[in-house]
Amino acid sequence: MSTSLIAMGVAIFLVINLVIGLAGLSLLVGTFDTLFGKPKLTLLRSSKGGNIFAFGFKWSSAKEPAALDTIKLRLFNPFGSPTQVEVTKPFDAKKQSFAVEVNMGPGFIDLLGASNFDMATMQVEVSSTRDGICYQFDMSGAKFRKLVAESHQTVAEFIQQHSLDATKSSGPPIDIPVRSFIADTVPGRGPALKMATNPAFAGEFSASPAAGGAATAGAPAAATFLVSKVWIEPGCIVCNACEDIYKDVFEVLADTCIIRPNAPLDDGLRIQEAAEACPVEVIKFTKAS
Ligand code: SF4
Repeated sequence: MSTSLIAMGVAIFLVINLVIGLAGLSLLVGTFDTLFGKPKLTLLRSSKGGNIFAFGFKWSSAKEPAALDTIKLRLFNPFGSPTQVEVTKPFDAKKQSFAVEVNMGPGFIDLLGASNFDMATMQVEVSSTRDGICYQFDMSGAKFRKLVAESHQTVAEFIQQHSLDATKSSGPPIDIPVRSFIADTVPGRGPALKMATNPAFAGEFSASPAAGGAATAGAPAAATFLVSKVWIEPGCIVCNACEDIYKDVFEVLADTCIIRPNAPLDDGLRIQEAAEACPVEVIKFTKAS
């Protein structure tokens, strides 16, 4: 047998061994991840914004079999207002890793709009009512806000990337969420959110003619002011809060908010109200000098 034939045989033998080795390693890593991988929560970009919360959840269903069917968002906000918000929403039970969009209802906007949100603690709980299993993830309000603002992957993209079964995912449900409670502000702690719907500031906002209200007798009235420029920075989560407050100025599109062409800039107080209600603080404006 010639030397070249022997060398070719050795090379083929080595390549086959390499392929078998890599396949074995990959199987080993996959099995290890399935059996010992930690549950992982990923915040995703919702297709509709507003009250819709999108997330992906991966866990070892072989190690911890359960039918997960409930998401709960809980805000502990001792230095802001409201001090606690909790919103709970059931969804179609999932027995394997999944990604869904859930309609959290108006409580979600209250939660994102809480004052001093960045200093608060957010808890995200994914649980099974049937199996009594609960996965809890704690993070600061600032981190939650950042994850929401930076989430670019959709539910469909998450399912595709992780080779999940799309048929086990459902679209945004339309039923009404359970809203457990919203606590009052701790007296004397933290600034209250300055907006027209807060009774503490009703007198100020009712002075704005565009707000459509008359000044409350005896309440302090703040004069409105002119704005020279208003704009939206990247990161809008399309929650609709600004448009609800001042639709002549703000228009919420499918994936962001814009300032309407020829928007009136003579009611700075109302623009300021919208900016302060923006949960991700992307509305900016400058007062006219
Ligand atoms: S700009 Fe702010 S308030 Fe307006 S839709 Fe976007 S996130 Fe909501």
